[in-house]
Order: sequence, then C-alpha cells, then structure tokens
Amino acid sequence: MALSGALVIGPDRSGRSVTVVDGRVAALASADAAVLSCPDGDIVPGAVCAHTHLYSGLARYGMPQALPPPENFLEILERVWWRLDRALDAEILRASARDYVARALLAGTTTLVDHHESPLLIEGSLSILAEVCEELGIRALLCYGATERNFGRAEAQRGLAECRRVAASPLLRGLVGLHASFTVSDDTVREAGELARELGTVVHVHVAEAAADVDDALRRGATGPLERLLSLGALVPGSILAHGVHLSTEQVYLADAAGCWLVHNPRSNEGNRVGYAGTLSATTRVALGADGWDADMMVEEAALLRLAAQHHDIGVAGRLAAGHGLAAERFGCAAKTLAPGALGDVVVRQGGNVRHVVVGGRVVVEDGVLKTGDMELIAASAQSEAARLWTRLAQI
Ligand SMILES: [Zn+2]
Repeated sequence: MALSGALVIGPDRSGRSVTVVDGRVAALASADAAVLSCPDGDIVPGAVCAHTHLYSGLARYGMPQALPPPENFLEILERVWWRLDRALDAEILRASARDYVARALLAGTTTLVDHHESPLLIEGSLSILAEVCEELGIRALLCYGATERNFGRAEAQRGLAECRRVAASPLLRGLVGLHASFTVSDDTVREAGELARELGTVVHVHVAEAAADVDDALRRGATGPLERLLSLGALVPGSILAHGVHLSTEQVYLADAAGCWLVHNPRSNEGNRVGYAGTLSATTRVALGADGWDADMMVEEAALLRLAAQHHDIGVAGRLAAGHGLAAERFGCAAKTLAPGALGDVVVRQGGNVRHVVVGGRVVVEDGVLKTGDMELIAASAQSEAARLWTRLAQI
C-alpha cells in the first residue's frame, strides 16, 4: 500500500468508505485495490496540528526544571527553550522528532506544521526532520525560524537559506520561517518575504505571543508586530501566524484581510501564562496548534473548549477543522476532507481510541500499532538521547 497504490478504507459502522488513489481521496478504486476494513469504527479526517516544535519532543523525558524558575514569558524563553535549542545535536534532534512524530500518528494527527530552531545545527537540520517525517509517514510543513538573537544577521541568513533546502514531496512542503518580530531586523523580515515569494510558499512566524513582542514593535516605531511584518512585505497570503494572543480585534481583521492563518495554541498559552487569545474569534481562519506539547489534537481541542468557556468565548467552533484548509492550500488540493481531491489522510476511531491511520494512502497505524517504526525502540532511543540532552543543557 504505497503512496501510488489504491486503498479502500471501510466500510465503517455507518457504511461509509473512503478510497485513496495516488495519495488523494478518489471517487472510485480499481477492483484490485487493497482494503482496510473497519466495520466497528468511525472514519474521520486525520487531524492537523497547525503549529508545533519537533525539537521539544524530548521534554517529556524528565526535562530538568530551570532554576531559578522563570517568572515571565521572556524568562521562559531565555532559561528554557533558548537553552534547549542550543543544546541540540543531530542525534538528539532525530530522536526528538521520531518520538514526537510517532506519538502524533498514534494519536490520529496526520499533518504537523513545524517551526524549527537549532542555532548550533542550522545547516542540515531540516533534512533530519524531513527524513523522519518521510520514514514514519506523517505529512509536514517544515521551516527554520530565522532569528538574530544568538549570532546576528549571519545567523538569520543561514536560517533562511536552510528553509530553501526543503524539497517538496508528496508528504512535505517547505515554508519560510521567522522566529518572531522581536528577534529580527527589518532586513531579515524583508528577505523572508522575498524568499517566500521566490519559492511560492508562505511565512510561518510567532506573532504577538506575549506583550514583549508588541512592546518591541512599538519601540521600533511600528503599530505592532503584525503591522511591522506586513509593512516589510513578509506576510504573503497564506502565511501562518502562531499565537496572536495580544492582537486586537482590528488587528485580527487585518491579518484576515491579508489572507493569513492564525493558530491558537491553548495549552501552551495557558502554560506560559501569556493570556487567552480571545480576539482570534474575529476570523474563521484560525487553526489549532500544540506548540511543542504532544500533538494529540483531541486533548488540545478539549483544552480549547475548557478555556473558551472560562473566557466566555463563543467563537471557537471549527478551529480544529480549519487546519485542513491550511494544509489543503499548501498541498494544492481540495479543502473538503474525505471528498474526492482531498488529501488521503484518514483515521479510523473506535470507542474513543485511534485504530487505524492512513497518510497519503499509506497505512501508518494499524490496530493501534505504529507500522512504520518500532515504538518501543523509538521511545528507548528518545530516553537515552534525552539523558544526553540534559547533560549538555547543564553546561549551557
Ligand atoms: Zn511556537
């Protein structure tokens, strides 16, 4: 059942069948198509995690607490994530990505929109992520988040150059990444937009995640980080703006008018105490992301619903499904899931569990077991690379 083969999933308990041919949902299959039966299950579209970080996949393996404990968002970045990203080497990154991707597939997530940074391993870092995604069979949008925060402009230019190296495949597309407005100069922002236009792709960037990003943009004379990125030409239509916690309703309208996607990351926002992204309800172009937390989108959606109720936000319906529209734009296919022309990413759920997962017509999880890798070996390798990572982290 390779990407080019035909596969019929179903019928499920409501009599529904979905056919995948050449990686896309098709109206008809040949008589000799392979069959994945699921008479007791329910066929649903694979979930999309619209913003995450594969490099944080080892955090679950006993990441030591930063001391003294960070007290605000910038301290969380400086004491935790901006140290972790400098401690990454190739084998740690590979183990982290493999563990994260495997768990995402087992949870029924078939597309990841990743935002990567490893300042001491820029060149070749996206190849490692691409290899892992191809091997385990997940769909992914990959980018390097260009930044100047460690080594200045040269670092940003190397980050942008790394984005250029992602080769499109049936499962993969490259994006152009910027870390965030507050860690890049005007020249880097401009170059990101130019590169995205040249490559026919979009920019993926953190926007107004915390007040610090807004304050920085104001200091630079802009109305906000969104306006700064727009005025420098970075936000080509379809660009992906993660967080938007500190955007006003008018700014969300502005992002919408520019054809951008916003991504709500409820668990991460709550954990980092950056606030609730209540203004995102002003647009329907809002998808759901895990931002480095495990990519079980049912758990993320439950967190969204819990927080939305707390904040009296009645506009969050359809946020998980919106990710399909985002993915469809990048892969140039029909946005209506499970319909002819849509991505052939199909999940069978049964009794609340993920039973089968198909990505681009390839069966990657069958009867709850990962078929494209050995989960025990992946977890064992993650455990041992995590121990090495914590040692390296202590020296930074
Ligand atoms: Zn993020």
